[in-house]
Amino acid sequence: MSGLDKSQLIELLEYPRRRILQSMELNYCPHAGFFNHTDMECINCHQGMECTWMNHNDETVAVEKKSVEELKQQLLVAVDFIDSSLTPHHLSRRQCECENCVWLKRVQQVLKV
Ligand SMILES: [Zn+2]
Repeated sequence: MSGLDKSQLIELLEYPRRRILQSMELNYCPHAGFFNHTDMECINCHQGMECTWMNHNDETVAVEKKSVEELKQQLLVAVDFIDSSLTPHHLSRRQCECENCVWLKRVQQVLKV
């Protein structure tokens, strides 16, 4: 056991869930955001990463049944996503208070990465 608090990890998934959903262009998705791993359209979709993530972590998935390790992996993917959506302006400001930066700092503290 890594000693990480599962409920804390689950809570941290809430923010990227909202952000990723906002960033997705579901109007263009023939599956309304349900990833179909056998569909070439899904496999080649430019939203593939976001979509796969959502399908693993949205409210309909029993995230509490996942292991701490799995939740950690999903959080790290979300960190990459949020990180890449930030302009260098945020990253250069040590004390940026926007919700992206605040969330990233919280994840770093919890995961100690
Ligand atoms: Zn910021």
